Amino acid sequence: MASRYAVSLTPDLSALIDRSDPHDPIARQFVPDRAELDRQPQETADPIGDDANSPVEGIVHRYPDRVLLKLAHVCAVYCRFCFRREMVGPGRRRALSGAALAAALAYVRERPEIWEVILTGGDPLILSARRLHEVMAALSAIDHVKIVRIHTRVPVAAPSLITAALLRALKAPGKATYVVLHANHPRELTPATRKACARLVDAGIPMLSQSVLLRGVNDEPATLTALLRALVECRVKPYYLHHGDLAPGTSHLRTTIAEGQALVRSLHGRVSGLCQPAYVLDIPGGHGKSPIGPSYIRPASGTAGEQRFEIDDFNGRRHIYPPGSAGG
Ligand code: SF4
Repeated sequence: MASRYAVSLTPDLSALIDRSDPHDPIARQFVPDRAELDRQPQETADPIGDDANSPVEGIVHRYPDRVLLKLAHVCAVYCRFCFRREMVGPGRRRALSGAALAAALAYVRERPEIWEVILTGGDPLILSARRLHEVMAALSAIDHVKIVRIHTRVPVAAPSLITAALLRALKAPGKATYVVLHANHPRELTPATRKACARLVDAGIPMLSQSVLLRGVNDEPATLTALLRALVECRVKPYYLHHGDLAPGTSHLRTTIAEGQALVRSLHGRVSGLCQPAYVLDIPGGHGKSPIGPSYIRPASGTAGEQRFEIDDFNGRRHIYPPGSAGG
């Protein structure tokens, strides 16, 4: 397996594994499993279509007002379910060269419609503070870019890397920097991780989270609730709950969409609105994300000229909106 997909586990995450538990949810995310050799026909090397939307090396331009800028193709840890597992890891694609970075920045500079640049990868926060500072300074100099968003697993995988020098490097004068933390299980929010998040937020960097819905890791209400609450306690707003992508050899970790919708419905009304992420699917082929959460509202038959809806409350009871009409 190690020759097929990259394997790496930091001491921080290794220490979290309960070796007496054959179904440990941390091990399940990072330790290779023979099931990864089982590739389903619908699984593809580039399940969310990065390459189809890459006009120049390092850039993915899928939506009109934002681009991904992939600086590196290495991570602190390698997730067994990664949707870029064919692209990330030692010996996969190389980091952006100076010339390629200059061309990627020129692409952004020449397109005034680009409002947000998302640094992703690979994990941008394993780069040196000096390299990050150079990139942030270059983005700062582009007037129409207002937001720099950084996707990372580092505060979970290697919290000691969130140093004062790194925090200084993440400041882009005149821009808002957001950090989006990838975390999937409440045990990942260790005291060290919580301190790393506090350092980021106290430095004036708002934080959001993204989690992947994973069978045997976080696919039941108590675990997901504990994760989402722990994130909010760390001042990290849950942003996305991703349905598992069709990455090769990951079917043992994917739930069905019906299971995901039932899980999201179980949180509605019972867990604070602060804790509610959007349940989303990246449509295979590079067609972008769409929300796939359960629907609580549907048209109801009404009197002529009046549009009425049937809506479910968090106890599963149905109501007619506007009320007062037949059945309301
Ligand atoms: S940290 Fe992100 S890019 Fe790296 S292996 Fe995990 S999911 Fe993939």
